[in-house]
Amino acid sequence: MYYRLHDKAISGKFCPENAKSEPFDDAAVRCPECLGTGSVWVENPDWSGFGDEPANLEEECPLCQSEGSVYWSSLRDRRDEYDMGEYLQEGYSCFLSVEDMRAYIQEYGWYSIITDETPVVAFEGEEVGMGLDGEPLVIPSQVLYWTTWGKIKN
Ligand SMILES: [Zn+2]
Repeated sequence: MYYRLHDKAISGKFCPENAKSEPFDDAAVRCPECLGTGSVWVENPDWSGFGDEPANLEEECPLCQSEGSVYWSSLRDRRDEYDMGEYLQEGYSCFLSVEDMRAYIQEYGWYSIITDETPVVAFEGEEVGMGLDGEPLVIPSQVLYWTTWGKIKN
């Protein structure tokens, strides 16, 4: 059995099709604008079509300012502009027990973003990988029950 804090308003419907995990907000991911090169090619406004004038000019990437990477927190709200597929891992990030969940939340101070009303789902499924904190990534096959953080936190 697995347990996950799952707010549908943020993460969408809890189902196998949506079972993807995002990077942490402060994870540096490859810049989708320049594909990590730090620069982009733009049309040369002075290009005449003749002579030695280049048709395109290389410029500093406007999204990452030549870093080649950006923080996930700055990308996550721009899903309409970029394909996020490469940043997502298969499976929902979850916990093996309620005790693990409590310990993790205490350690990482998630109390600031979790309320007593935050939904918790207990479910069964197939483990398909490991998350950034060594937690299981699971594709759910069956929901066992829903509860809330307030009911299981102590
Ligand atoms: Zn860039």
